[in-house]
Amino acid sequence: MISADRPAAIIIRRPDDMHLHLRDGAMLLAVAGQSAWAGRAVVMPNLSPPVTTVAQALAYRQRILTALPPGAEFDPRMAVYLTERTPVDEIDRIADAPQIACVKYYPAGATTNAELGVGDWRRVIPLLERMAQRGVILSVHGEVSDADVDPFDRETLFVERILSPMMAQLPTLKIVLEHISSAAAATFVRQAPSTLAASVTPHHLSFNRSLWAGGRLNPHGYCHPVIKRESDRLALVAAVTGEDAPRFFLGTDSAPHPRSAKACDRAAAGVFSAPAALPLTAQVFAEAGALDKLSAFVGENGARFYGWSALSSRVTLAREAHRIADSVPVGDDPAQAVTPLCAGQTLNWRVL
Ligand SMILES: [Zn+2]
Repeated sequence: MISADRPAAIIIRRPDDMHLHLRDGAMLLAVAGQSAWAGRAVVMPNLSPPVTTVAQALAYRQRILTALPPGAEFDPRMAVYLTERTPVDEIDRIADAPQIACVKYYPAGATTNAELGVGDWRRVIPLLERMAQRGVILSVHGEVSDADVDPFDRETLFVERILSPMMAQLPTLKIVLEHISSAAAATFVRQAPSTLAASVTPHHLSFNRSLWAGGRLNPHGYCHPVIKRESDRLALVAAVTGEDAPRFFLGTDSAPHPRSAKACDRAAAGVFSAPAALPLTAQVFAEAGALDKLSAFVGENGARFYGWSALSSRVTLAREAHRIADSVPVGDDPAQAVTPLCAGQTLNWRVL
């Protein structure tokens, strides 16, 4: 039955994906089309070697544009990887380049290709001060990377040990706490000054740890930060649909890995969520009775925080069965193919 509470279709602002991994080479060619469903995206720099300069980021941006299918309307905005050796004048080049969205902070060793990340944040204070002066946003992978810390506590400890003192020392620096995964992080962002915002992924909003650890181990649902308890998921849904919702926006963290890197002894972290991202997000908002807030979450809050004007075009989401493919081929080698989030499953929203 169709009612005002349960519309058959909704029209929303064309989304921005404020956190996206596109990789490079054959993988970029394979996933670019399906990953470019949003109008714009903040593209992460953790290639190997990482994208640490404006010149490298602009060259990478050109490879992305070349990889897109003909007619795609997609504007990649690049993140530049922060290292302890980044020169201060690189921050000035970032501030002056409109295609560069932010600087990305990886704690050394926290996730895929984070080896060159920051070991001690106090060593990059001069860079953070310049960013604050120039209005450059710091995008943060908010997990401590110490092997002795429980994976379920790494985000909370990052907030306590690094983010809080960083915000106290640099009160005007704009920071995005990326892909928040815990009730504690959601509460921290809600109570923090307006210089702090958070991106949230469709998988952390839709699933708890049963996705990857609830039955047979599912490497395709394994990511950093790990998907946590149901109580964490509920807190994230409450945050993005609640009173302080303008501080939260969609960042899919879609991060493809070849099957050979997932089905192996040491499975890589990352969920390829792009094909399911918008249908899953719509499902979360529909179940929460908050479809009226979906457009702001996916297409307005992120743009506002980044100082971009919101896109004027619209997309229609229909409440229709929509099957996610089992696999996305990468070249001819089956071991290189990618298994998307919700592979082979039928979702109940479709992007028209
Ligand atoms: Zn990421």
